[in-house]
Amino acid sequence: MTSAPALSEAAHSADRDAMGAGSRQPAAANLIGLSRTELETAVEALGQPRFRAKQLWHWIYHRGATEFADMSSLSKELRAHLEDRFSVGRPTVATEQQSVDGTTKWLLRFADGREAETVHIPEADRGTLCVSSQIGCTLTCTFCHTGTQRLVRNLTPGEIVAQVMLARDALGEWPSPKEGRMLSNIVLMGMGEPLYNYDNVAAALRIIMDPDGIAISKRKITLSTSGVAPMIERCGRELGVNLAISLHAVNDALRDELVPLNRKYPIAELMDACRRYPTLSNARRITFEYVMLKGVNDSPAEARELVRLLADIPAKVNLIPFNPWPGAPYECSSERAIKRFADVVMGAGYPAPVRAPRGRDILAACGQLKSASVKLRASQRARAPVS
Ligand code: SAH
Ligand code: SF4
Repeated sequence: MTSAPALSEAAHSADRDAMGAGSRQPAAANLIGLSRTELETAVEALGQPRFRAKQLWHWIYHRGATEFADMSSLSKELRAHLEDRFSVGRPTVATEQQSVDGTTKWLLRFADGREAETVHIPEADRGTLCVSSQIGCTLTCTFCHTGTQRLVRNLTPGEIVAQVMLARDALGEWPSPKEGRMLSNIVLMGMGEPLYNYDNVAAALRIIMDPDGIAISKRKITLSTSGVAPMIERCGRELGVNLAISLHAVNDALRDELVPLNRKYPIAELMDACRRYPTLSNARRITFEYVMLKGVNDSPAEARELVRLLADIPAKVNLIPFNPWPGAPYECSSERAIKRFADVVMGAGYPAPVRAPRGRDILAACGQLKSASVKLRASQRARAPVS
């Protein structure tokens, strides 16, 4: 399924962008990430009629063109104008790693040299792309590797959309296929807290969901939040995507420790926001993610308390075996403890699948992401002589 030439070509054109940023020639502005209206404005500024933007949109997001030269339905003149001022290149692939289980992790380098990770998790007849929303994270959940990396910056709409486009390049999934996609689902569960970068995430998702383009439906997109309660209703109303809540603890004392954002938006307030989630129904339940930490949050009493908290919410629970990372202060619960916990939750009528860890061998599983560049800098610091 993976088409290496497509990927290396994409990386290549992005290389040029990155080089542009560092050389005397300024990098051409990238059109990826512009809304339809912004694209119209750009086209009009070139003295072209507005409707050309629709064609351009189709070439960029439906056909996946990486060069203006390929956009054969546009006039030669417009293609030349576009070529002079803009690009549709992808970020550079700094590294690409393949897990023994087929999971691929890309470390992407953006025009300013900053890096973020994207992970593709294939299944038999579908596949999920785990997308990053920020470089690093300002929140400091104690079990999360990304949380140990301080925030560098928000990703732009273009940088978020480009993660999907680059994965599509690699999978050879252009023009946007109607069926049989190996990139069928998107989860905003990579690096960062998506509701702390809401405007850019929303702009990116509107592009990704557009039916004349990448065309991934809101029903196939899940946004995971550590609990930014005041943003939850708006996210549902404006985007209508599936919601996942990183709960991980059932009382405030423990959640304050594991997910420090809980001190700002405690469990009761978070659950209230969930009850008001606009698209909530039995067909579209909220997923509650619960990382299984040995001896910390995995007792049957806590499972019963979880059921009580979910009482009037159409919900499913996703039990995530803790994925270890170097220096992590926790261990994963035993299989027995996880099963015992799941039995209590399922006994109360909630689905409680245990998420199979994917890509652990390449640190691509949930909570293991952390840009290699930051790790490298940290190890360089460690080696540096102390003055
Ligand atoms: N910031 C958002 C989205 C990214 S994290 C959030 O926290 O929801 C994606 C999921 O991975 C979250 O549920 C997170 O709690 C979980 N996670 C983080 N570190 C983990 C680890 N080491 N093992 C298993 N799951 C982890
Ligand atoms: Fe940030 Fe989510 Fe990791 Fe918490 S779990 S530190 S919110 S990425």
